[in-house]
Amino acid sequence: MIARQSQNVYKSIHARCMISAEQLIVLLFLGLFFLELLTEFCLNEANLRYVRKRLQDQNIPKFLRAKLTPETYQKSVRYTLAKGSFERWSQIYGRAVTIFVLFGGVLAYLNHFSQNLGNGLPTWTQATGIIFCLSASLVVSVLSLPPDLYHTFVLEERFGFNKTSPALYLTDKLKGLALGFVIGVPFLFVVLSVMRSAGFYWWLYAFLFILAFQLLLVIFYPTLIAPLFNKFTPLEEGELRQRIMLLATQLGFQTSGIYTMDGSRRSAHSNAYFTGLGRSKRIVLFDTLVKEATIDQAVAVLAHEIGHYKLKHVRKRLILQSAFLFLGLYLISLLLDYEPFFHAFGLEQPSHYGALVLFAFVSGPFTFYLSPLLNHVSRKHEYEADRYAVQELRNSKPMEEALIKLTVTNLSNLTPHPWYSAYHYSHPAVAERIQAIQGLALEQQ
Ligand SMILES: [Zn+2]
Repeated sequence: MIARQSQNVYKSIHARCMISAEQLIVLLFLGLFFLELLTEFCLNEANLRYVRKRLQDQNIPKFLRAKLTPETYQKSVRYTLAKGSFERWSQIYGRAVTIFVLFGGVLAYLNHFSQNLGNGLPTWTQATGIIFCLSASLVVSVLSLPPDLYHTFVLEERFGFNKTSPALYLTDKLKGLALGFVIGVPFLFVVLSVMRSAGFYWWLYAFLFILAFQLLLVIFYPTLIAPLFNKFTPLEEGELRQRIMLLATQLGFQTSGIYTMDGSRRSAHSNAYFTGLGRSKRIVLFDTLVKEATIDQAVAVLAHEIGHYKLKHVRKRLILQSAFLFLGLYLISLLLDYEPFFHAFGLEQPSHYGALVLFAFVSGPFTFYLSPLLNHVSRKHEYEADRYAVQELRNSKPMEEALIKLTVTNLSNLTPHPWYSAYHYSHPAVAERIQAIQGLALEQQ
């Protein structure tokens, strides 16, 4: 009797002290979630303070002083500060959206909604799952409109970068939605079907399928997708075209053509890139670059881009991303039948589609800590491509000038806080890049 009583007391104490697996998941998630927010906030504040201090010192990096008017420098600082204070609020807003979706009953509502719509259709169509995933991403897109609108029509507008009209903005969004639907439906259909019927190793098959799918997108992006948003015109005959073709032949870079893109329809920011695979690669120059850079500078930018290709940066990046995808899918496979994971975020029953959407929302605070690593690799590749361009052109001046020109036209931050740039910059700060290039020039002499 006494033994039983003490057992009961023990049980009730145990029940009071123990937190359920569900609560533990919520606590762990929230802990990491707010740690991420705090880290982002502190990095941004440190960066803003650092830039403001440089403004008071009138401290322009030496080699830029000759190229930059004090007005342009002041404007770049004002732009950086404006972007920083926008980031402060948009970060908080974005996190509030995540909390609302995960704990505000949104997922449970969408689950009922998609079950009602999808249950009339045969199971093999995966209709319920597809509707759930697409409607969840639609909800997030709609909720992220306010900061996006502010960024385009207030922030970028104020500094003269925005060229997007409200009508163009609206058609861009609608095209994006339609494209998401056209690509998303078959993609989700295959992934959900594999999850349902491929057994224990579904995540391995899904991994292979997603790799193949990405490859298809890379192949069709330049000819089918990019033209939906921009006009691509073959670069007109002339010195620039001749010089680029000569460079491509010299460097053994096969291309199906050189195009200019009407980037100026949306923004005054300037750039160049290449897309596609194998022989079908296209070189794309923003019309803003063609207009503002000299021929030598544009050729240097192209040599840098070809450097990325020749040094196999694209491939290395793809391998790294595939490793993360592989790991992510394996983790989803572990969580697939674990009920507390679903209950923690308001879903009554485990489901394949629920696991995909929950993982997309919940993984953010975990993957956040990988971004400095990815950015570190990316910055290393930028230095390597700069080195390639300088060595192949046997001249460091055009690359240096092109970087300064891009920095001036884009009003880039000249003096980012070292921690901020280490965390967030996919490209080294321009001062660091130019110093490295000048070091190469000394080596060559
Ligand atoms: Zn680059």
